[in-house]
Amino acid sequence: MLKVALTGGIGSGKTAITDYLSSLGVAVLDSDQFAHEVTARGEGAVDEIAKALGPGALSPDGDLDRAAVRKLVFSDPKKRAQLEAIVHPRVRQKMNEAAKRAITPYVIFSIPLLVETKQAENFDHVVVVEAPHELRANRVLERNSLDHDAFSAIDDAQASDVERRRAANDIIQNDGSLQSLYGQVDALHQRLTALSRRKAQTAEA
Ligand code: ATP
Repeated sequence: MLKVALTGGIGSGKTAITDYLSSLGVAVLDSDQFAHEVTARGEGAVDEIAKALGPGALSPDGDLDRAAVRKLVFSDPKKRAQLEAIVHPRVRQKMNEAAKRAITPYVIFSIPLLVETKQAENFDHVVVVEAPHELRANRVLERNSLDHDAFSAIDDAQASDVERRRAANDIIQNDGSLQSLYGQVDALHQRLTALSRRKAQTAEA
Protein backbone atom coordinates (compact mmCIF):
# COMPACT_ATOMS: atom_id res chain seq x y z
CA MET A 1 0.00 0.00 0.00
CA LEU A 2 1.25 3.44 -0.98
CA LYS A 3 1.51 5.96 1.86
CA VAL A 4 0.71 9.45 0.61
CA ALA A 5 0.97 12.59 2.74
CA LEU A 6 -1.09 15.68 2.00
CA THR A 7 -0.09 19.00 3.49
CA GLY A 8 -0.62 22.71 2.96
CA GLY A 9 -1.01 25.96 4.85
CA ILE A 10 -4.06 27.05 6.81
CA GLY A 11 -7.08 27.30 4.51
CA SER A 12 -5.22 25.93 1.49
CA GLY A 13 -7.88 23.30 0.77
CA LYS A 14 -6.69 20.09 2.47
CA THR A 15 -10.19 19.23 3.68
CA ALA A 16 -11.77 20.06 0.32
CA ILE A 17 -9.31 17.59 -1.25
CA THR A 18 -9.73 14.84 1.32
CA ASP A 19 -13.53 15.13 1.24
CA TYR A 20 -13.40 14.70 -2.53
CA LEU A 21 -10.94 11.79 -2.36
CA SER A 22 -13.14 10.11 0.27
CA SER A 23 -16.06 10.39 -2.13
CA LEU A 24 -13.92 8.48 -4.67
CA GLY A 25 -13.44 5.72 -2.09
CA VAL A 26 -9.89 6.59 -1.03
CA ALA A 27 -8.96 5.93 2.61
CA VAL A 28 -8.18 9.23 4.32
CA LEU A 29 -6.55 9.64 7.72
CA ASP A 30 -6.55 13.13 9.21
CA SER A 31 -3.94 13.95 11.85
CA ASP A 32 -6.18 16.65 13.37
CA GLN A 33 -8.91 14.07 13.97
CA PHE A 34 -6.44 11.66 15.53
CA ALA A 35 -5.05 14.47 17.70
CA HIS A 36 -8.59 15.02 18.98
CA GLU A 37 -9.02 11.29 19.63
CA VAL A 38 -5.80 10.87 21.59
CA THR A 39 -6.64 13.88 23.76
CA ALA A 40 -10.25 12.88 24.46
CA ARG A 41 -11.50 12.36 28.02
CA GLY A 42 -9.92 9.34 29.68
CA GLU A 43 -6.89 9.16 27.36
CA GLY A 44 -3.48 9.01 29.06
CA ALA A 45 -2.29 12.02 27.07
CA VAL A 46 -4.68 14.32 28.95
CA ASP A 47 -3.02 13.65 32.33
CA GLU A 48 0.42 14.06 30.79
CA ILE A 49 -0.55 17.38 29.22
CA ALA A 50 -1.91 18.66 32.53
CA LYS A 51 1.36 17.64 34.21
CA ALA A 52 3.42 19.42 31.57
CA LEU A 53 1.34 22.58 31.13
CA GLY A 54 -0.30 22.88 34.53
CA PRO A 55 -3.91 22.61 35.70
CA GLY A 56 -4.91 25.56 33.45
CA ALA A 57 -4.86 23.07 30.56
CA LEU A 58 -7.98 21.36 31.90
CA SER A 59 -11.58 22.52 32.17
CA PRO A 60 -13.31 22.16 35.59
CA ASP A 61 -14.74 18.76 34.57
CA GLY A 62 -11.30 17.40 33.66
CA ASP A 63 -11.49 17.61 29.87
CA LEU A 64 -8.68 19.17 27.91
CA ASP A 65 -9.46 22.88 27.50
CA ARG A 66 -8.33 23.18 23.89
CA ALA A 67 -8.59 26.98 23.72
CA ALA A 68 -6.57 27.32 26.94
CA VAL A 69 -3.94 24.87 25.65
CA ARG A 70 -3.63 26.81 22.38
CA LYS A 71 -3.06 30.00 24.38
CA LEU A 72 -0.59 28.36 26.76
CA VAL A 73 1.67 27.02 24.01
CA PHE A 74 1.29 29.77 21.44
CA SER A 75 3.91 32.11 22.86
CA ASP A 76 5.95 29.46 24.70
CA PRO A 77 8.06 27.25 22.41
CA LYS A 78 9.17 25.04 25.31
CA LYS A 79 5.60 24.25 26.31
CA ARG A 80 4.67 23.73 22.67
CA ALA A 81 7.51 21.20 22.32
CA GLN A 82 6.31 19.41 25.48
CA LEU A 83 2.76 19.24 24.13
CA GLU A 84 3.96 17.95 20.77
CA ALA A 85 6.17 15.33 22.42
CA ILE A 86 3.06 13.96 24.14
CA VAL A 87 0.58 14.17 21.26
CA HIS A 88 2.55 13.53 18.06
CA PRO A 89 3.91 10.01 18.78
CA ARG A 90 0.42 8.87 19.79
CA VAL A 91 -1.09 10.35 16.62
CA ARG A 92 1.57 8.71 14.45
CA GLN A 93 1.00 5.33 16.06
CA LYS A 94 -2.78 5.51 15.63
CA MET A 95 -2.50 6.64 12.02
CA ASN A 96 -0.10 3.85 11.15
CA GLU A 97 -2.36 1.28 12.79
CA ALA A 98 -5.35 2.64 10.85
CA ALA A 99 -3.37 2.62 7.59
CA LYS A 100 -2.57 -1.08 8.08
CA ARG A 101 -6.30 -1.80 8.22
CA ALA A 102 -7.00 0.11 4.99
CA ILE A 103 -7.80 -1.97 1.92
CA THR A 104 -7.45 0.77 -0.70
CA PRO A 105 -4.40 0.88 -3.04
CA TYR A 106 -3.19 4.06 -1.41
CA VAL A 107 -3.92 5.91 1.81
CA ILE A 108 -3.90 9.68 2.24
CA PHE A 109 -2.45 11.00 5.50
CA SER A 110 -3.60 14.60 5.85
CA ILE A 111 -0.98 16.27 8.04
CA PRO A 112 -1.01 20.08 8.25
CA LEU A 113 2.37 20.19 10.04
CA LEU A 114 4.10 17.50 7.95
CA VAL A 115 7.08 19.70 7.09
CA GLU A 116 7.31 21.42 10.47
CA THR A 117 7.43 18.04 12.22
CA LYS A 118 9.90 16.61 9.66
CA GLN A 119 7.74 13.64 8.68
CA ALA A 120 7.93 13.91 4.89
CA GLU A 121 10.49 11.13 4.61
CA ASN A 122 8.13 8.60 6.19
CA PHE A 123 5.94 8.69 3.07
CA ASP A 124 6.16 7.28 -0.45
CA HIS A 125 4.71 10.44 -1.94
CA VAL A 126 4.04 13.97 -0.69
CA VAL A 127 1.29 16.19 -2.09
CA VAL A 128 1.31 19.90 -1.27
CA VAL A 129 -1.72 22.12 -1.83
CA GLU A 130 -1.11 25.81 -2.28
CA ALA A 131 -3.28 28.92 -2.57
CA PRO A 132 -2.32 32.59 -2.33
CA HIS A 133 -2.20 34.06 1.18
CA GLU A 134 -5.11 36.50 0.76
CA LEU A 135 -7.34 33.89 -0.85
CA ARG A 136 -6.66 31.48 2.02
CA ALA A 137 -7.37 34.28 4.52
CA ASN A 138 -10.68 35.14 2.85
CA ARG A 139 -11.75 31.50 2.67
CA VAL A 140 -10.89 30.86 6.33
CA LEU A 141 -12.53 34.09 7.50
CA GLU A 142 -15.69 33.08 5.67
CA ARG A 143 -15.53 29.56 7.09
CA ASN A 144 -15.21 30.37 10.79
CA SER A 145 -14.87 33.08 13.37
CA LEU A 146 -11.12 33.67 13.05
CA ASP A 147 -10.19 37.26 12.38
CA HIS A 148 -7.42 38.35 10.02
CA ASP A 149 -4.84 38.73 12.82
CA ALA A 150 -5.54 35.25 14.18
CA PHE A 151 -5.25 33.84 10.65
CA SER A 152 -1.90 35.61 10.14
CA ALA A 153 -0.57 34.46 13.51
CA ILE A 154 -1.27 30.83 12.60
CA ASP A 155 0.03 31.28 9.06
CA ASP A 156 3.26 32.91 10.28
CA ALA A 157 3.90 30.01 12.68
CA GLN A 158 3.65 27.47 9.83
CA ALA A 159 6.21 26.51 7.19
CA SER A 160 6.46 28.68 4.08
CA ASP A 161 5.40 27.59 0.58
CA VAL A 162 9.09 27.34 -0.33
CA GLU A 163 9.76 24.94 2.56
CA ARG A 164 6.74 22.80 1.68
CA ARG A 165 7.69 22.72 -2.01
CA ARG A 166 11.04 21.18 -1.12
CA ALA A 167 9.19 18.16 0.26
CA ALA A 168 6.63 17.95 -2.56
CA ASN A 169 6.31 15.25 -5.21
CA ASP A 170 3.06 16.81 -6.43
CA ILE A 171 1.69 20.33 -6.09
CA ILE A 172 -1.96 21.26 -6.37
CA GLN A 173 -2.81 24.90 -7.05
CA ASN A 174 -6.07 25.75 -5.34
CA ASP A 175 -6.40 29.28 -6.68
CA GLY A 176 -9.54 28.78 -8.75
CA SER A 177 -12.97 27.21 -8.45
CA LEU A 178 -13.77 23.99 -6.63
CA GLN A 179 -14.36 22.42 -10.06
CA SER A 180 -10.79 23.27 -11.03
CA LEU A 181 -9.57 21.78 -7.75
CA TYR A 182 -11.54 18.56 -8.31
CA GLY A 183 -10.13 18.28 -11.86
CA GLN A 184 -6.60 18.38 -10.43
CA VAL A 185 -7.53 15.86 -7.74
CA ASP A 186 -8.98 13.48 -10.38
CA ALA A 187 -5.63 13.59 -12.21
CA LEU A 188 -3.75 13.12 -8.93
CA HIS A 189 -5.97 10.14 -8.08
CA GLN A 190 -5.02 8.49 -11.38
CA ARG A 191 -1.31 9.11 -10.81
CA LEU A 192 -1.45 7.75 -7.27
CA THR A 193 -3.45 4.69 -8.34
CA ALA A 194 -0.83 3.95 -11.02
CA LEU A 195 2.02 4.52 -8.56
CA SER A 196 0.43 2.20 -6.00
CA ARG A 197 0.09 -0.51 -8.66
CA ARG A 198 3.75 -0.13 -9.55
CA LYS A 199 4.75 -0.34 -5.88
CA ALA A 200 2.67 -3.50 -5.43
CA GLN A 201 4.26 -5.10 -8.53
CA THR A 202 7.76 -4.24 -7.32
CA ALA A 203 6.97 -5.77 -3.93
CA GLU A 204 5.75 -8.98 -5.60
CA ALA A 205 8.76 -9.28 -7.94
P1 ATP B 1 -7.23 24.26 7.67
O1 ATP B 1 -5.77 24.34 7.50
O2 ATP B 1 -7.77 25.44 8.39
O3 ATP B 1 -7.72 22.94 8.22
P2 ATP B 1 -7.84 23.38 4.97
O4 ATP B 1 -6.50 23.39 4.33
O5 ATP B 1 -8.43 22.06 5.35
O6 ATP B 1 -7.89 24.39 6.18
P3 ATP B 1 -10.34 23.81 3.61
O7 ATP B 1 -11.13 23.75 4.88
O8 ATP B 1 -10.46 22.69 2.66
O9 ATP B 1 -8.82 24.13 3.95
O10 ATP B 1 -10.67 25.15 2.82
C1 ATP B 1 -10.86 26.38 3.50
C2 ATP B 1 -12.23 26.96 3.12
O11 ATP B 1 -12.18 27.34 1.76
C3 ATP B 1 -13.38 25.96 3.25
O12 ATP B 1 -14.54 26.65 3.63
C4 ATP B 1 -13.52 25.41 1.83
O13 ATP B 1 -14.83 24.99 1.54
C5 ATP B 1 -13.15 26.64 1.01
N1 ATP B 1 -12.51 26.30 -0.28
C6 ATP B 1 -11.45 25.47 -0.47
N2 ATP B 1 -11.12 25.45 -1.77
C7 ATP B 1 -11.96 26.27 -2.41
C8 ATP B 1 -12.12 26.66 -3.78
N3 ATP B 1 -11.33 26.21 -4.74
N4 ATP B 1 -13.12 27.51 -4.07
C9 ATP B 1 -13.93 27.98 -3.10
N5 ATP B 1 -13.84 27.68 -1.79
C10 ATP B 1 -12.86 26.81 -1.44
